[in-house]
Amino acid sequence: MFSLGDATLLVFESFKCFTYVKILIDLWVVVMVEIKKENFLVIGKTENVEIDVDTFLCKGCGICVELCPRKVFEWSKELSERGVHYPVPAHADKCVRCKLCELLCPDFAMAVRW
Ligand code: SF4
Ligand code: SF4
Repeated sequence: MFSLGDATLLVFESFKCFTYVKILIDLWVVVMVEIKKENFLVIGKTENVEIDVDTFLCKGCGICVELCPRKVFEWSKELSERGVHYPVPAHADKCVRCKLCELLCPDFAMAVRW
């Protein structure tokens, strides 16, 4: 017969199991973020602003390159893992932090912070 003690034990064990899985997922996310930083981020940085381009997400559509009012971006010479040229924030010092590139990027590949 299934007693209250068994039920409590079952809940406790399930909770422990859930906690272990959660810890594993958190560790996995941390590792993936570090790998991503190393391999897929192009960073333009000045005292005032940091512009990150995620080359894994970028599809090379050129919206940011064309619409940046300060012409901050240049095209990469090499291809990304996706086989496209991607924007490089070569003139990050000209950025006026309008965030237009971040807002207009259809693939969420751009991040502007300060
Ligand atoms: S925040 Fe504005 S000025 Fe800066 S890179 Fe993006 S579009 Fe250009
Ligand atoms: S708008 Fe986004 S997807 Fe298009 S080139 Fe720029 S970063 Fe890449």
